[in-house]
Amino acid sequence: MSNTNTIRLGKSGLQVTRIGFGGIPIQRLSEEQTIRVLHRAIDGGFNWIDTANGYGTSEERIGKAIREYPRSDVLVFTKGTGWDPKTLREQIELSFERLQTGYIDLYQFHIVPNPEMWQTMEKNGTFDVVREYRDKGMIRHIGASAHTREAALAVVEHPEIEVLQYPFNFIVEEEGMEIVTACRKRDIGFIAMKPFGGGALQDAPTCIRFLLGVPDVVTDPGFEHIEEVDEVLSLWKEGAPLSEENKRTIEQLRRELGTRFCRRCGYCSPCPHEVHIVSLMTMETLVKRFPADRLSEDWIADAGRSIENCIECGECEEKCPYDLPIMEGIHRGAEALRRALQAAG
Ligand code: SF4
Ligand code: SF4
Repeated sequence: MSNTNTIRLGKSGLQVTRIGFGGIPIQRLSEEQTIRVLHRAIDGGFNWIDTANGYGTSEERIGKAIREYPRSDVLVFTKGTGWDPKTLREQIELSFERLQTGYIDLYQFHIVPNPEMWQTMEKNGTFDVVREYRDKGMIRHIGASAHTREAALAVVEHPEIEVLQYPFNFIVEEEGMEIVTACRKRDIGFIAMKPFGGGALQDAPTCIRFLLGVPDVVTDPGFEHIEEVDEVLSLWKEGAPLSEENKRTIEQLRRELGTRFCRRCGYCSPCPHEVHIVSLMTMETLVKRFPADRLSEDWIADAGRSIENCIECGECEEKCPYDLPIMEGIHRGAEALRRALQAAG
């Protein structure tokens, strides 16, 4: 089979390309830039887009960008975080308005926080709202996303869930494969989110080839620039397995990062005291990879200074879905920056 063919996304039966368009980063772009990047991806062959009610301007921009294609050429996936019927209904209506479409191909409960919330949501009528739209044909398939093992394993037990979206890349291969296997057993489609570890893994050939090597998994990297789209498109079309060099990169990054690294999901932010949490959490990796002259960029200096604002209230740690020791991590990041600046003179 050619690597550019589509595969069946579990029991949803949707035929999708192995790679889709992740809609988080386009909220940082202008409308014109968004349209250019998105059109490049669709014209290159990707046939699905994933966004969410909570991704700022993403849904609205996607709605505008896909207007130039027959609706059936592009599968549109979105998500909402309403955990009560009223909030979820409002979010779904807003998604339809922004996306300017009569139907959504896949609607996902966004970041199911834990098994308890998942059960509550079924009991309090929230799931019924999605069923109602599905029964009217306005939502074609139902899915969910989760960031924790416990939440994911609870979600896949639900008989109406057709697709799960969960973080998966070579750093978290073991825990990810447990969830992939749970999905396979129930014929649930699996979307690998965070294929680049939320930005911590910058080697596109290694990240994409690793995921293409797991045959029933699809992934949705976020794209901000045409060059990024072109690079992933060509890796997808080439369909090469991991090279010896890629394998060495994987081993090295596994040693460097472990599994408890910041995925840059941003759920811990904003800090009420304006600490630049995400930048500081990823600073140790950044100072290893950035040339010394880039360390004087304003945003890096601002992040370094912001550590002084931390009052160790712990609010951020309560919000991190990966239970990371953020207070310790941000201090380590600030210290790594201080040392790197000192070494650079
Ligand atoms: S512990 Fe520090 S970084 Fe975290 S929310 Fe509180 S002040 Fe912000
Ligand atoms: S510290 Fe946790 S919540 Fe914050 S960006 Fe990193 S992984 Fe996400």
